[in-house]
Amino acid sequence: MNGHDTIALEKQYVVQTYPRAPFVLTHGEGVIVYDAGGKPYLDFVAGIAVNALGHADPEIGQVIAEQAGRLIHTCNLYHTAPQAELARDLCAKSFADRVYFCNSGAEAIEAAIKFARKAARVRYGPGKTGVVAFHGAFHGRTMGALALTAREKYQAPYRPLMPDVTFAPFNDAEAAARVIGPDTCAVFVEPIQGEGGINPAQPAFLQALRALCDRYGAFLVFDEVQCGMGRSGHLWAHEPGGVTPDMMALAKPLAGGLPIGATLVTEAVASTLEVGDHGSTFAGGPLVTRVAQVVLARVSAPAFLAHVREVGGYLMDELRALKSPHIKEGARRGADGRRRAWRRGDQAGPCRV
Ligand SMILES: *Cc1c(COP(=O)(O)O)cnc(C)c1O
Repeated sequence: MNGHDTIALEKQYVVQTYPRAPFVLTHGEGVIVYDAGGKPYLDFVAGIAVNALGHADPEIGQVIAEQAGRLIHTCNLYHTAPQAELARDLCAKSFADRVYFCNSGAEAIEAAIKFARKAARVRYGPGKTGVVAFHGAFHGRTMGALALTAREKYQAPYRPLMPDVTFAPFNDAEAAARVIGPDTCAVFVEPIQGEGGINPAQPAFLQALRALCDRYGAFLVFDEVQCGMGRSGHLWAHEPGGVTPDMMALAKPLAGGLPIGATLVTEAVASTLEVGDHGSTFAGGPLVTRVAQVVLARVSAPAFLAHVREVGGYLMDELRALKSPHIKEGARRGADGRRRAWRRGDQAGPCRV
């Protein structure tokens, strides 16, 4: 079947919710993908921040084949080693004490909303239900996650949404202090906003949110679905800010392209949850968690992270040196965690780490 047939089938039979590029991808290798006519493309999209190890990584392919030949799915009524071991590895490499598995980023956010509501109810009684999120954020498309995503275009067709959500400007600690209070149960923030433009949170902003959450007994939730897992040159994008959350949502690259989500939590949150409080049929299955164990080990290796910082810095410097009218803005974090930003027309030399 050639590319035109596939495009015609998609147009006729698939619900039309995506704007697709007019070619059909058939295979990939490393940073290159090929279309049905054999044309190569340099893949800057990486499956929307999913293919952290590139396409057709030999180790990932081998691990998938081995695990698929053994056990793909059991459901969560049974124990499997890959799920337990991945949870152990994620906790060893983060602030977290326990992990809840799910299947996507939106589900990881959804779980964090539910856990915050439950934990606040158990610890403080009913009524502490407010959720604070920020302009420019993207937290996903399910009804709860959508309620935290302040995009009129995404929200408008689906109102009424989950109530008790307040939005504040990103990177504005004073505005955050005006909306976080005794009724707040959770504050959701991306340490680096993805869909809203690549906007790093200033360390002082994350520190202010941490202090406000501590003051009012609210849970701080970092959405690292896009910015986590080594993408910023640190395993977690919140590392340079020097603060840790009560919960963290992960998904996109975690299983090297297979669908997975995870909500990492502290024991203080986990201890308020009981059997039956939340669940999912596919979540944390042995195939995806076995692959995620390999991905986590590879992207958290110091040499891998150093390489991300090196090529990220190189890319930013070279993009800036192009002085292209198509490049309007760029930013990255320096070693001190501060944002280095530049805009088209800036006269200064290339930004340095
Ligand atoms: C993509 C994304 C989500 C939603 O993840 P899905 O797997 O598409 O549900 C949530 N938060 C952030 C920051 C994302 O980039």
